Amino acid sequence: MASRNQNRPPRSPNAKKEGLGGIPFDKRRKVETQGTGRRQAFSAVNKQDVTMNSDVGSIEECGKVEFTKDEVLALLSERAKAGKFDTKAKIEQMTDIIKRLKVCVKWFQQADETHVQEKESLKVSLESAEQKYNHKELEARTKEEELQATISNLKENVVSLHEKLAKEESCKQDAIECHRREKESRVAAEKVQASLGEELDKVKEEKMAAKQKVTSLEDMYKRLQEYNTSLQQYNSKLQTDLETVRAALTRAEKEKSSILENLSTLRGHSKSLQDQLASSRVLQDDAIKQKDSLLLEVTNLRNELQQVRDDRDRQVVQSQKLAEEIGKYQENVGKSSQELDILIAKSGSLEETCSLQKERINMLEQQLAIASERQKMADASVSLTRTEFEEQKHLLCEQQDRLADMEHQLCEAELLRKKLHNTILELKGNIRVFCRVRPLLPDDGGRHEATVIAYPTSTEARGRGVDLVQSGNKHPFTFDKVFNHEASQEEVFFEISQLVQSALDGYKVCIFAYGQTGSGKTYTMMGRPETPEQKGLIPRSLEQIFQASQSLGAQGWKYKMQVSMLEIYNETIRDLLSTNRTTSMELVRADSGTSGKQYTITHDVNGHTHVSDLTIFDVCSIGKISSLLQQAAQSRSVGKTQMNEQSSRSHFVFTMRISGVNESTEQQVQGVLNLIDLAGSERLSKSGATGDRLKETQAINKSLSALSDVIFALAKKEDHVPFRNSKLTYLLQPCLGGDSKTLMFVNISPDPSSAGESLCSLRFAARVNACEIGIPRRQTSTKLLDSRLSYG
Ligand code: ADP
Ligand code: MG
Repeated sequence: MASRNQNRPPRSPNAKKEGLGGIPFDKRRKVETQGTGRRQAFSAVNKQDVTMNSDVGSIEECGKVEFTKDEVLALLSERAKAGKFDTKAKIEQMTDIIKRLKVCVKWFQQADETHVQEKESLKVSLESAEQKYNHKELEARTKEEELQATISNLKENVVSLHEKLAKEESCKQDAIECHRREKESRVAAEKVQASLGEELDKVKEEKMAAKQKVTSLEDMYKRLQEYNTSLQQYNSKLQTDLETVRAALTRAEKEKSSILENLSTLRGHSKSLQDQLASSRVLQDDAIKQKDSLLLEVTNLRNELQQVRDDRDRQVVQSQKLAEEIGKYQENVGKSSQELDILIAKSGSLEETCSLQKERINMLEQQLAIASERQKMADASVSLTRTEFEEQKHLLCEQQDRLADMEHQLCEAELLRKKLHNTILELKGNIRVFCRVRPLLPDDGGRHEATVIAYPTSTEARGRGVDLVQSGNKHPFTFDKVFNHEASQEEVFFEISQLVQSALDGYKVCIFAYGQTGSGKTYTMMGRPETPEQKGLIPRSLEQIFQASQSLGAQGWKYKMQVSMLEIYNETIRDLLSTNRTTSMELVRADSGTSGKQYTITHDVNGHTHVSDLTIFDVCSIGKISSLLQQAAQSRSVGKTQMNEQSSRSHFVFTMRISGVNESTEQQVQGVLNLIDLAGSERLSKSGATGDRLKETQAINKSLSALSDVIFALAKKEDHVPFRNSKLTYLLQPCLGGDSKTLMFVNISPDPSSAGESLCSLRFAARVNACEIGIPRRQTSTKLLDSRLSYG
């Protein structure tokens, strides 16, 4: 601003004089008064000027007075019109001018004050605008915080959505079904995302533009502030200038007052005073010029100020507008930022869901691929296994067919075996006799005498012949088999095991042990079950039967075994397995007719024998039978004789009924195995028995004689077979005829003192042995046939 004043060409007071020169002040005033109210106000001053009476205070009281530039210039250019020597008038005019100048100066001061006030008010408004702006900023910050809170809430929602997604993962199988829909929705979401992205871009662009506008407005605001400060600086400069002018004015006034004071003194010295006046005029002119120039500058400054003010007003309006716009933009920005945040959050969540869906889809596709591969493999393996299965099935069918064939063949073979076995046994003879010579025992009396038993060594008789030497006479006997004293229990059993098999095949088998007391009957039949090697025929037979029944079980055979044990003492049956058995003494009494129980023997049409009141045990194990055998052994009545303290005086009959059923072939067998330990066959004279013992011996001999009679009758196929002659023969009736198998062991004691009894036994056995008719090899000599008669 100062430069403007400096650049301005200096105004010559003459030029001003020329500009206004010639025209009297009043005239100029008249020309100028035809205008604004301001001029009227100025004219009011002029009127006072006309009246000249009013003082300066009254003018001041007139209210606001405004000056135009021309008026000020006119006021400044005004000169005292009084005559050169009319000093009084001149002074009055001068005072008037000075008064008006004072008024003008006062107005200028007032204008300046109002300007300062306006500036201050502008400052205040600016501060309030700034406060508003800060307030808005704070609001924006709070909104931002709220938005952050909502963002955190949204994050929490995102977490909950994550959890939901985890749940959704459990619904994978449903997801497979929803796969297609999800794809579609994904496409739609992608579209939405694209549109949202576009919107986002637009919003971003808008945001950028708004930001740019805001920054430009802020720049403008800064520039305005700078401009305002420069204006303030200029104003302060002007004020300092004004102060200097005022100081000059006061100095001039002082000078004027000094001049006025000196005026009276100077009147006398007019010349000097005039000179002084001239000098003072010159000074005044200089001052006026100075003032003019200053006023010009002031007006220029005022104009500039006006312009600046207008500019400022415009700027303020613009700034207000801009502030409004900023507010709007901020609102828009806030809204758009909210929308943007929401959209960003939405798009973020959509992107997350999209990515999750993609991941899930990928996982599911992988799983599907794996599953399809597995399925393929499984299909391949299934087809493989199916073919294998078919092959196996085929093989199985073949095997089953073969098995059926084999079973059929086996059944046929079994039948054949049975037939063959039976044929062999028939060829061997349905009634066979084995001879067994026991070893010499320490108790035997004739230890040091010559041996009475000899075994022929000829090829024909080896193993089948036995010679008894008595009184120098050799008695040769031939049997189906002869066991010497060295023969073990096992060897003996081996020979009769085929008969046991026959019992399993459904035949009726009787195995007798015949011989004098102490000859080894019980040993042969029962043996010593506690030592395995000395087990007799009964336990071994039972073992074989159980083993065979178990092995035949594989072919579909089911066996049921029933066991009964009885003894026949004095032609009376006694149950050896009865739990409430009578004592030995009672038995004797029972025999003599005071018996309680009656064991009645009956035979049904199927050839089955029944003994009333007889205890029959169903057995399924060896253990059970051995305990029963023990029980029977304890129950067996034993009588003391001279021959053997433990010699049995009764026939012991062990019977096992074997019922076999084959459900597959619907075959049935009913076999019976009778193992009979006969009572001692010694003759009456040797035993030396009397009384009850005599009766016992007679009964035994009678029953043994009856047995031989029955066998003889059967062999001869006689019409009448005397089964009823003894209890024993009657009991065994079904097992002694037809296709039944009978084996008799004749036990011989090697003791020379027993030679007589041995001869009797051998003769008895030979008689039985001769019973097989029609088989060429079993021819027996008439001598042997006759020998039976000696036994009677
Ligand atoms: P029985 O029953 O005919 O009266 P035992 O069987 O009781 O005769 O036999 C009489 C004795 O001879 C017994 O002590 C028995 O152990 C013994 N004994 C019989 N036969 C044999 C044999 N083959 N080997 C060894 N000892 C035997
Ligand atoms: Mg005995």
